[in-house]
Amino acid sequence: MPGIELVCCPVNALMKKLPLMRSCKEVTALVIAREDRDLPLAEQLALRVHMVICKACPTFERQVLTMRHAMKQWRNYGADNDE
Ligand SMILES: [Zn+2]
Repeated sequence: MPGIELVCCPVNALMKKLPLMRSCKEVTALVIAREDRDLPLAEQLALRVHMVICKACPTFERQVLTMRHAMKQWRNYGADNDE
């Protein structure tokens, strides 16, 4: 049918239109980078926008946060047992 845009994936269609859109690959890289350094405001915003529309990336983010928490606990555990 002419005149009707074929949209197989609404997320990908949105990504082409909005400058703040990032792919899942870019977002996972940002989530990992955020562990080491503060992200620029634009990247933080893009991350939040993506987390709202994506189902997989929030799960990944949760896992990274769980890992970070576990590593912290592990470090504290080591410190407690020094004495
Ligand atoms: Zn994603």
